[in-house]
Amino acid sequence: MVWGDKPYHSLDYELKRQFGQKIYKVSLDGGMSCPNRDGTVGTGGCTFCSQGGSGEFAVGRTGYPDVWEQIEQAKTRVHRKISGEGKYIAYFQSYTNTYAPVDYLRTLFERAITHPDIVALSVGTRPDCLGDEVVALLKELNRQKPVWVELGLQTIHEKTAERIHRGYRLEVFEDAYRRLKEAGLTVVVHVILGLPGETKEEMLETVDYLGKIPVDGIKLQLLHILKGSQMAAEYEKNPFSLMELEEYLDLILTCVARLPQSVVIHRLSGDGAKALLIGPAWSANKKLVLNRMMQKFRENGIFQGCQRAPRG
Ligand code: SF4
Repeated sequence: MVWGDKPYHSLDYELKRQFGQKIYKVSLDGGMSCPNRDGTVGTGGCTFCSQGGSGEFAVGRTGYPDVWEQIEQAKTRVHRKISGEGKYIAYFQSYTNTYAPVDYLRTLFERAITHPDIVALSVGTRPDCLGDEVVALLKELNRQKPVWVELGLQTIHEKTAERIHRGYRLEVFEDAYRRLKEAGLTVVVHVILGLPGETKEEMLETVDYLGKIPVDGIKLQLLHILKGSQMAAEYEKNPFSLMELEEYLDLILTCVARLPQSVVIHRLSGDGAKALLIGPAWSANKKLVLNRMMQKFRENGIFQGCQRAPRG
């Protein structure tokens, strides 16, 4: 297989290709909020979003306000699992990491990018928080070390976007995406599979749309209902159906088969904190899910870009 041991163009493979060694992501907290929480765009946030702003794995700023301290702290977690020195991507994950004045962002990102063990910067944000000045800053930093921008699109369908209170329309994503690419940045798009009210065909339409662009990278995530989210309250009041394991695996195989081989697949499962998980319960056993997924890829002879559907 062209991508090592995986039937798809995995992030792990791509990082080894680009940097010649295994690279780890360290999740950092830039101390920003989100306009979809503070009332600028909305209050309460996207309905699936946990209180931690989708950044439960980040090293908190409390105790480590300096970003180098956060990096060192995050490195010690990774060091427990690896032998020798690692290289890392500084991943600003919690909340909206371009929701601050450009001077603040410059100080924060420059500090992160100049750490000797950091090989790239990854910035998770919303497309409506990418003004021209911010894009220009990211373009400038990209000359020092690679910069990725991670956009939480989740779906191309406006009815779902409204239901989950995403707070921006697809045109906003399209405009931000175009400007980021013109600036030469790498763009990774997050998609959630299993959002309430969406059919499988609609989920595949989102994946096909991104494959057609084609985006540089994609994160496919199973919808997790997390404690403290608005969706948890909605689910408790009016339970809707959550994806079953086999249903999710078939959908993932179809998505991967339809994505062009150039698209780097960053994730094929969920990333929710186990302690917050309400459902689907099966997703807590990540190892089992990934093993079963790889087994299904093999059984069905599916690989990225093969355009085949899994057998019944
Ligand atoms: S998912 Fe992102 S954009 Fe939505 S509320 Fe959470 S931090 Fe804000």
